[in-house]
Amino acid sequence: MTRTGWRRPDDEDERSRRQERSSIVKAMLHVHTCFSSDGELTPASIGRLARGRGFSTVFLADHFESLDRESFAALLGECRWVKECRLVPGYERSFGGYHVLALGVDRWIDDPEPRVWADRVRAAGGLVAIAHPGRYRHQIPEPLLAACDAVEVWNSKPPYDGSMGPDPRGYRLLGTTRIPICGQDLHGTRHLSAVGMEVADACGTPAEIVAAIRRGEYQMTNGRVRYARELSPSSRRTLTVVHRARRRLVDLAIDLRTAARRAAAARRLDAERAPEAPEP
Ligand SMILES: [Zn+2]
Ligand SMILES: [Zn+2]
Repeated sequence: MTRTGWRRPDDEDERSRRQERSSIVKAMLHVHTCFSSDGELTPASIGRLARGRGFSTVFLADHFESLDRESFAALLGECRWVKECRLVPGYERSFGGYHVLALGVDRWIDDPEPRVWADRVRAAGGLVAIAHPGRYRHQIPEPLLAACDAVEVWNSKPPYDGSMGPDPRGYRLLGTTRIPICGQDLHGTRHLSAVGMEVADACGTPAEIVAAIRRGEYQMTNGRVRYARELSPSSRRTLTVVHRARRRLVDLAIDLRTAARRAAAARRLDAERAPEAPEP
């Protein structure tokens, strides 16, 4: 037997065992249940919806401000009953109006100082990410950014990035340490999309999924196109054009909606004043 061809007999077995175990976990991130004041869906219905779209894992991010230690414990309890899909708890907290996700954390962590809070979330196994940077025109205060492990470069909610692909402007916030992630920011069925993360996974516990995401062993996808951690130059060019055009359309839609609301408010005001008008 030559040295080159030599292999310990158990190497092959171990490799095939590992291959059998390894699979791709399809995870939906940044999902709100009815435990958020603006969430419409129960954990059970989220489990069914996600399974129907081919997801096996959902990382929840209920509004921190809607929760407290007791209600978070109640949410954990409800998640355990959902069998269609694994629901992994977490929350979304506002720091000075900037939303920060704590994904994959099953305990209540409260601290007013973002850096301390983020360190404690990390120590508990969670991933800390800036949510929907497009909402802030991709301008995030540096101290807050420095406290985060990731940036949600792709939030598929229509007013933010939609489901075509990540916005390259979000990548500028990554620096050398942060990773890009995608989420749905689902509050109701109208926000449901196919956007999620396919994570290379050995055994699939939530902690292992978070660890694989940290190592960059994932792809972001809308079910048709897949984006690795690094955006290729051609994807960057295409997505820059797509998002520039999208932004104009979204701004126009927002302007039209605001104008329509103002006109309706003015009509209501006129109608209220009408009875007081003097008789001709
Ligand atoms: Zn948010
Ligand atoms: Zn959210």
